[in-house]
Amino acid sequence: MSLPNRILLALVLGAACGMVAQALVGTHPALHWTVTNLTEPFGRMWLSALLMVVIPLIVSTLSTGVSALGNLREVGRLGALALLCFLCLTAASSTLGITVMNLAQPGGALPPAVKEELLATYGSELQQTRELGSRSLWPEMIVKLIPKNPVQAAASGDMLAVIVFALFLGVGMAVAGEKAQALAAFLDALAHTTVAIIGLIMRLAPVGVFCLIFSVSARFGWRLLVSLSSFVLSVVLALAVFQFVFYPLVVKLFARRSPVDFFRRIRLVMITAFSTSSSNATLPTSMRVAQDELGISREVAGFVLPLGATLNMNGTALFEGATVLFLAQVFGVPLSLPAQALVVLLAVVTAIGAAGVPGGSIPLLMMVLATVGVPPEGIAVVLGVDRLLDMCRTTLNVTGDLVTASIVERLSWSRFET
Ligand code: ASP
Repeated sequence: MSLPNRILLALVLGAACGMVAQALVGTHPALHWTVTNLTEPFGRMWLSALLMVVIPLIVSTLSTGVSALGNLREVGRLGALALLCFLCLTAASSTLGITVMNLAQPGGALPPAVKEELLATYGSELQQTRELGSRSLWPEMIVKLIPKNPVQAAASGDMLAVIVFALFLGVGMAVAGEKAQALAAFLDALAHTTVAIIGLIMRLAPVGVFCLIFSVSARFGWRLLVSLSSFVLSVVLALAVFQFVFYPLVVKLFARRSPVDFFRRIRLVMITAFSTSSSNATLPTSMRVAQDELGISREVAGFVLPLGATLNMNGTALFEGATVLFLAQVFGVPLSLPAQALVVLLAVVTAIGAAGVPGGSIPLLMMVLATVGVPPEGIAVVLGVDRLLDMCRTTLNVTGDLVTASIVERLSWSRFET
């Protein structure tokens, strides 16, 4: 059986075993022990192994990719094209999220007693999130784009700052030319080494995925799904439409590829994103699949995908738009059309700023809620089902990156053929 199929099997088995275990022995200490001491630690170790290679991967591939482009103009052209795709896809997805919520109106269906119960249960988890959400987009987060100390930025997982440093490194190498050859060769060797490490880590993916999915589904509050069913269904439906209708159209029209073939080739990436709920942890896999399966050049993959993992979050923007509308309905806050347009704009901006880790968008979502006059603590209403939605939206986040890389590759093929 091929690796993607084995991982898919592990995903299905993990979910099935977790659900059955919860249904049969949900409150038994043995299940709690198994999850806490066995499946969760192993799942987290596998996730950490993937994250371990992200910084060396970004620094090596992005900088060598940029320096291979040769001149600043070419970097600017590719960058502008990628950013344009990111913006269009993100704006389209958040608009879809808002539209679906306007049509389905799931907020009105939530009984007030359930709302109070959810607020009381999940409200206590919000303290740390609230602190993160209180940072201002401007100027704090913008100033932090330029790292004073790249090593510290890498150590604190500040991906955008690391990306900016890698861009500078690449441009610097291009400008220094011959004199930077030793550094370029070193970074090239580092890129190949990280790819080899990723291959080893992915061999353990079936076990890692099983453990992650088992832990989530054995602990998940399935009961909550019933009370929040109309919200969850509306979001999942909108995500599915974007993933299986909108992306295929874009792939066909702008990347000129067969959508069925595209999805078949990227299934390993989708499964990894779904299981890890992290764009960052999926980046190593997307990078490999983009080159090996989609035939995207290393220059484009190394340039577009790290940027995309951090900046391009279509699923997150859709979720944010939808959740703001849902909570506005729950709390009886009327949102006029201009206010909804502001939500789209804020969803786009905050999806760019969200970290590619599980639940990375929640602090920023609280910021959006506060801006449009919905109580930010209201996020507690949806927190219990967030992991499931996170798995789905992260799948879109990484698919959007690969869609963009395919478009950029097609539009720049002539540049690389010469
Ligand atoms: N988990 C998402 C990602 O890594 C971010 C989020 O929406 O919370 O792409």
